[in-house]
Amino acid sequence: MPPAARLSKSSYLAGLQCPLLLYRMVRGPELPEPDRFTQYQLDQGTAAGKLAAEQYGPGTQIPAFPLEEALEKTRKALEEGREHIFEAAFSFQDIHVKADILVSRGDGHADIIEVKSSTKVKDRHIDDLAIQRFVLEGNGLTVDSAFVLHMNPDYVHPGDSLFLLSDQTRAADSRMGNIPENLRAMRKVLRAPEPPDTDIGPHCGKPDECPLKGECWKHVPKISVFSIPNIRSEKWDFYRQGLVGIDQLPDWFKGKPYQKPFLDSCRSGKPVIDRTGLGSMMAELKEPLHFMDFETLMLAVPVHPGTRPWQQITVQWSVHTLKEGKLGHREFIHDSATDPRIQFIESLLEALGDTGSVIVYSAPFEKGRLEEIAEAFPQYRDRIDRVIARVWDQLLVFKNHYCDSGFCGSNSLKNVLPVMVPELSYATLDVQEGGTAMAEYARMISLPGGGEKEKIKKNLLEYCKLDTLAMVEIHKVLSGIE
Ligand code: SF4
Repeated sequence: MPPAARLSKSSYLAGLQCPLLLYRMVRGPELPEPDRFTQYQLDQGTAAGKLAAEQYGPGTQIPAFPLEEALEKTRKALEEGREHIFEAAFSFQDIHVKADILVSRGDGHADIIEVKSSTKVKDRHIDDLAIQRFVLEGNGLTVDSAFVLHMNPDYVHPGDSLFLLSDQTRAADSRMGNIPENLRAMRKVLRAPEPPDTDIGPHCGKPDECPLKGECWKHVPKISVFSIPNIRSEKWDFYRQGLVGIDQLPDWFKGKPYQKPFLDSCRSGKPVIDRTGLGSMMAELKEPLHFMDFETLMLAVPVHPGTRPWQQITVQWSVHTLKEGKLGHREFIHDSATDPRIQFIESLLEALGDTGSVIVYSAPFEKGRLEEIAEAFPQYRDRIDRVIARVWDQLLVFKNHYCDSGFCGSNSLKNVLPVMVPELSYATLDVQEGGTAMAEYARMISLPGGGEKEKIKKNLLEYCKLDTLAMVEIHKVLSGIE
């Protein structure tokens, strides 16, 4: 029997989500590397954490590694009566935790502050505080208060109060009683010679999307009960009965009216098209047709005037214009860390002109970004309003009038394109989806001019261009339906 493994705050939280995730995190094989977008979000969180610590400075920074040194330095800092200790390290019953900010009173009493780059307190933050408190109290400290310091969603740069301090002492207290039992169960899992045989379930996405989904969900076919639009918890009832494929569903299950086109398409193997609805939508279009897409950058710590934490800042656009059968293309990318919005909107308004429909995929996104620019720069308000009035949403075709089982229950452009226009694909591009585009954009603007910067810029331009070309080609298919 292997010895009990040391637990950390992250493995404890993983253990609350799923025993198999805990086992893999502690015993291996290692979890897959985070993708570029996840890493980008983690880096943003680190940047916010550093800034938060500065607000409590000066303080004693404890080095992250090696563990023994971190524990020793924390002990010494407490002995010396240091008030603010960052990344304070503690170990108790082989559980190792670090407190982002420890505010020590020098008499064995302290507060703990967990810094989060989210704009609100999340349920898992409470468990995070509870396990820290459990370990600190095991070390003889009394934790008077437990706080989450998170981004203030109402902060507007440059302003006051980028962070909000939220007292979660009571909430964390209420989780303390469960900790011994949770730890017993986790240690039992970790002592076993083999990983637990945990089945998939709603826990795979709660509270976080599990990094092992690619492995654990392999047995679920591409089109399954999980693809049925808005099926909610019913899908798990079917799954637990061994009903995974659409062809396994019982006859009595007809689905709600909005699920019927998908089920009918699965059963017939053909798309279900509401030709009347599609025809009236297509009749709304006015030439020239401008197919438009934006890319954005989200910064946890805003740097441009008038922006908020995590606001989506428009940095790039692509527009394909179709007029009398001829296709043209224009594009823009802001390639430095300065404020991109004025150049973005001026070049875009010029490219769109005053006539024709502006076709987007999921209008709330583009309309929302245009609204934000109009609020920040009222001199563009009238022209932006006129563009918004011309917006036509291609996604609504697939939401309301055209369903193909091949979309696997999602109407995202990435699911719709391979079915509607199989010859057009993102597969050969370095950047294949919006999250990666954002991570790569952040990397590009951090680089000095040169080969690597130019290479990323080219990849981003290709990606955004393909998004709008995809809409053009889908439009051509839709136009041919009678
Ligand atoms: S994918 Fe689901 S079952 Fe697999 S480890 Fe993650 S949470 Fe557990």
